[in-house]
Amino acid sequence: MHKQVWAKSGKSRDIELYTSNNTLEKLHHPLLLIGGMHGDEPEGVYLAELTLEWALQVPLKALNDFALIPCINPDGFAQNQRVNANGVDLNRNFPSHNWSPEFKESRYYPGPYAGSEIEVQALIKLIANIRPRLIIYFHSWKPCVVVTGPKNLEEAVILSNYSGFELVHDIGYATPGSLGEYGWHDLQIPIICTEDSEHRDRNLSWQHFGEGIKKILLKQ
Ligand SMILES: [Zn+2]
Repeated sequence: MHKQVWAKSGKSRDIELYTSNNTLEKLHHPLLLIGGMHGDEPEGVYLAELTLEWALQVPLKALNDFALIPCINPDGFAQNQRVNANGVDLNRNFPSHNWSPEFKESRYYPGPYAGSEIEVQALIKLIANIRPRLIIYFHSWKPCVVVTGPKNLEEAVILSNYSGFELVHDIGYATPGSLGEYGWHDLQIPIICTEDSEHRDRNLSWQHFGEGIKKILLKQ
């Protein structure tokens, strides 16, 4: 396992990246796992950290190639707020085909222009570098597994089956500038968003999603 401080947040906090190969370009069709896009959803950060803890116990050669970012929005996380230090919802800031400057509530502020935020810029660059075959990012809201990509995507079915959470293809409202829109509709990389129940015991996230994540990360 290789650790690097690969980017800095707006407030110069470290953004850590863990990978199965220390040369990013050598990762072979990796899985990209991301926690903490929304700073007030700590369940996702714990899930990413517990995934990392588990992966550290497993011989690297038993795992599919992966890259893992425990917390992409450390400034928001430190303040327990959804948005980053500039008040931007990172999950509305990606330069997707449908990015829009409009927003209904300040917590969805998409930024002054698409891709304006340093955290989003870093992620765009990483995705271009490692070309992940799949991105899974961890949220909390109402329990479900949202897939933006092919119907019945195997990994999404696994996460849904193990957690018992419904598999949906649409979260029920438009999300212009989200990672799902950018990843799938602009780059054709399937995106899975796990939504755990919010404000619960943090260890529940691993109980809900741990087995599915293990299944996806372990080589067959
Ligand atoms: Zn979220």
